[in-house]
Amino acid sequence: MQSNLSRMSSTSSKNLIQEKPPHKQMKQISEYFGKSVFGPKAMAEFVSKEAIKAVNESRNTGKQMDRKMADQIAEGMKNWAIEKGATHYTHWFQPLRGSTAEKHDAFFDPTGIDTGIEVFTGKSLVQQEPDASSFPNGGIRNTFEARGYSVWDPSSPAFIMEKASGKTLCIPTIFVAYTGEALDYKAPLIKSTNFLTKNTTAVCQYFDANVKNTKVSLGIEQEYFLVDEELYHQRPDLVFAGRTLVGNMPAKGQQLEDHYFGSIPERVYNYMTDFEKEALKLGIPLKTRHNEVAPGQYECAPMFEEADIAIDHNSLLMDVMQSVASRHKLKVIWHEKPFKGVNGSGKHNNWSLITDTGVNLLSPGHSPIDNLQFLTFFINTIKAVHDHADLLRASIATAANDHRLGANEAPPAIMSVFIGSTLSEVLNQFQAIKTPVITGKVNEKTISVYRIPEILLDNTDRNRTSPFAFTGNKFEFRAVGSSDHCANAIIVLNTIVGNQLAEFKKEVDALIKKKTNKLLAIEQVLKSYVKATKKIIFEGNGYGDEWVKEATKRGLSNIKTTPYALDAYSTKASKDLFVKNNIFTIKELEARTEIKFENYLLKIQIEGRILGELVKNYVIPSAVEYQKKLIDTIEGLNRIGQTKAENKGLYTLAKEISYNVNAIWENNNKMVDERIKANRLTHADKKAKAYCDKVKPYFDSIRESADKLEELIDNDAWKLPKYRDLLFLK
Ligand code: ADP
Ligand code: MG
Repeated sequence: MQSNLSRMSSTSSKNLIQEKPPHKQMKQISEYFGKSVFGPKAMAEFVSKEAIKAVNESRNTGKQMDRKMADQIAEGMKNWAIEKGATHYTHWFQPLRGSTAEKHDAFFDPTGIDTGIEVFTGKSLVQQEPDASSFPNGGIRNTFEARGYSVWDPSSPAFIMEKASGKTLCIPTIFVAYTGEALDYKAPLIKSTNFLTKNTTAVCQYFDANVKNTKVSLGIEQEYFLVDEELYHQRPDLVFAGRTLVGNMPAKGQQLEDHYFGSIPERVYNYMTDFEKEALKLGIPLKTRHNEVAPGQYECAPMFEEADIAIDHNSLLMDVMQSVASRHKLKVIWHEKPFKGVNGSGKHNNWSLITDTGVNLLSPGHSPIDNLQFLTFFINTIKAVHDHADLLRASIATAANDHRLGANEAPPAIMSVFIGSTLSEVLNQFQAIKTPVITGKVNEKTISVYRIPEILLDNTDRNRTSPFAFTGNKFEFRAVGSSDHCANAIIVLNTIVGNQLAEFKKEVDALIKKKTNKLLAIEQVLKSYVKATKKIIFEGNGYGDEWVKEATKRGLSNIKTTPYALDAYSTKASKDLFVKNNIFTIKELEARTEIKFENYLLKIQIEGRILGELVKNYVIPSAVEYQKKLIDTIEGLNRIGQTKAENKGLYTLAKEISYNVNAIWENNNKMVDERIKANRLTHADKKAKAYCDKVKPYFDSIRESADKLEELIDNDAWKLPKYRDLLFLK
């Protein structure tokens, strides 16, 4: 409540007659943050202590909860949700096609009309059987019964989603086949996080026995474009392919880079504050918003969270952003490269490891021992990326991301690590020190104090051109695509680093067994890694052609397209890695890889068809309409006695239009032939490669002619909204 004192002072102030500015009337974020989440506070109010204990236990151990307890939670969750105005509930899950899935059921039970009850039992909370036959499963379910279950994941809190006039209780779940194989992103993600934290905690014991647990932290920066909804619907390519398949950049594009960090247009600002509020209510800790480099491009980022939650929140955020956009007559474009000639969008994954004692393991410390711990996790991560660079490349491979990687201002498809000049120097010094062979008991302080270099990081030491950059206290995986599900990348990153830490521990333990001092053993193994991983570290400009040459010399892969990148999932090394560490069964891994090949070829197939329609139904008719006008004019001029030579410009223009129309026609026919051939292939990987090598090249040749026509033709005759309308919001 306002005190008398403050009331008096405000009435006596000069501002009395002024209205409060609008931002003063807005609520503080703390007043609504997490309001729509069934988190600890809501639970304490609606559920017994005993049941909360059961949830926490199930969360920590992964064990199934007793039915009676589940009933209690369900009852509490229902009462909370109804009090908040929810009428329906849904199991919320993340099938392999990327977005989230829901099937809503009403709490209201018609059979209970006499008793007037809204029903939600523990059974409905814990497990559901959505009709899953149309979700991608890579053949897993085809060979078994066509059934999938969604199973409650108590590690992620339930929430209420508000859309239009309805409110729905959403229960995060994992999605599994009848036979137990995972059909979603969540189940393997949880496995990979647990695997990594187990190995991280084990390695931490070398340094601090008090560490009992560790967490993977993840902060996801999300880039996106905004276009006007009405214009969006006038572009079949944006609607069906998510990107423009034809279109020219206007004279003023992003050359001036004046959009970046510029002031946010009011319409966009209103949209941002609106979706941020909805996201914050759902407990998504959004912190940052700004313009991006391209016109019409923006970015938002939440505060980092535990990886599994951060990834749930990213999926949820994308959902919220798109649904709030329609209130503002806007459409969010998630595609990695929606417009030719301007920057694409990514989803930077900021990733680190944090102990339950509050230490960020990727933050250099103040003492040499702390720094040895830092170097341990730092160097092991680099080693993991070095050894599994192709797998990491595969983890971000999609048809859409292929357009972005290596194009305008995006990291190339070459996986490398940027660490900055300070840490490069630290690693050089570290590698140069001579590790003495000391066995038996020694004073560890004296061993380490002069040996581990002091690390004073320079904050400005950044490199925006690297796909995997160290940024002071975390690694930033910048090659992830803006529309992708982060689990793809993080499952791989967690698994390769977890596996690497296990290998590291094995090597160090073997030395300790031979009576090498622990710290010296760590030092020795790390030094061998620094030496072995030199080629993956690159500090220069990742956008330049010189790097492509240099990378080839170093023997680094530069896999430009998805169907070839995906092969990394099928190598023996990858199979061993995932299967041995219980992240995927062989069947799951094969099924997922097949889905990725299928997704790729379907995307290219759809793009090919849309492009064909676009040129036949829009581009060529526009061209012909304008050409007819030209011919009429030429004929008219002839009639008044002007010669062909006198109207050379008009003749040439009319002829150039014919030339480009014919080129489109021919190339489109050739593309259709190649599609027919590709469709005859039976294996998804072969088909995907045929689409990539034989079909996709026609996109460029067709586009070239179409874009030329856009340049030549009367604005009024052009039937598609142009880039200048799409990119510069009114
Ligand atoms: P920039 O990358 O531009 O320096 P920030 O430092 O604000 O931006 O961080 C970007 C993202 O990284 C944010 O989501 C932030 O919460 C996250 N982040 C910061 N520290 C960590 C960490 N230790 N682990 C994971 N993510 C982190
Ligand atoms: Mg960043």
